[in-house]
Amino acid sequence: MAGAPDQSQPGPAVGEQLQQQHVSCQVFSERLAQGNPQQGFFSSFLTHNQKCQLMLLKTVETNPYVKLLLDAMKHSGCAVNKERHFSCEDCNGNVSGGFDATTSQIVLCQNNIRNQAHMSRVVTHELIHAFDHCRAHVHWFSNVRHLACSEVRAANLSGDCSLVNEIFRLRFGLKQHHQACVRDRAILSILAVRNISKEVAEKAVDEVFESCFNDHEPFGRIPHNETYAKYAHRDFQNRDRYYSNI
Ligand SMILES: [Zn+2]
Repeated sequence: MAGAPDQSQPGPAVGEQLQQQHVSCQVFSERLAQGNPQQGFFSSFLTHNQKCQLMLLKTVETNPYVKLLLDAMKHSGCAVNKERHFSCEDCNGNVSGGFDATTSQIVLCQNNIRNQAHMSRVVTHELIHAFDHCRAHVHWFSNVRHLACSEVRAANLSGDCSLVNEIFRLRFGLKQHHQACVRDRAILSILAVRNISKEVAEKAVDEVFESCFNDHEPFGRIPHNETYAKYAHRDFQNRDRYYSNI
C-alpha cells in the first residue's frame, strides 16, 4: 500500500483545483465541526474530492499521530502546508496514497480512502516518508535500501500493523506478529512502486530491518494506538520545549 513516490504525478491543474475545492471544504468543514444534524444528508451530495478534503482536515486537526508528525516536520524546518503539500486525487488500482518526493507532496487517493480512520492511517504513513525525506538525504530511486528503510518505519509507526496485530495477538498469541506484519507490508509497498523481484525487495528489507525497525523517531516509541500516540506527542512537545530553552 501507499508510498508511490514515482507514480504520483499531479498535473499542472492541481494547484487551481485545490484552491477551488478548498473553498467548499472550508464551508462544509464548519458545518461538520458544529455537528450539523443534516450532515449525513448533505454528505451524500459531496464529491469524492470534497469528502477527501473534509476527512483530511479532521485528521490534521485531531489525529495525535499526525499532529506529532506535523510538529516534528516543523521542528526539522519542513513545515507542512495543508494546501501546498496534500493533494486529493483519483488513483489507479487500490493504492491509498503516495509521497511524491519531486514535489514534496502527499497524494491522497480520494477514490480508495474509505473512511476517517483509513484517512488518518494513510496521512500518517505518508508523513513518515515526508519526515524521512526532510531529515535525511534519501535516495528514493537509486537506493532500494533507503526506500526499504522508510517503508519499514512507516509500517511500524503508522498503526498499519497495530489493528491486525491486536486481532492476531488475541486469536493466536503471536508475539512476533507485529514484526512479521511490518516486514510483509514494507515488501508489498516496495513492490507496488518498484519493478523489482520479490527476492530483491525481501533482501533490501531484511538488510535494513533491525536498525530501521528500532528507529522510532519522531515518536520515541512504537505508538500502538492513539493513547500511545498522545503520550508520544506530549513527550515530543516537552522535548522540544527543553531544547528550545537551552
Ligand atoms: Zn510507504
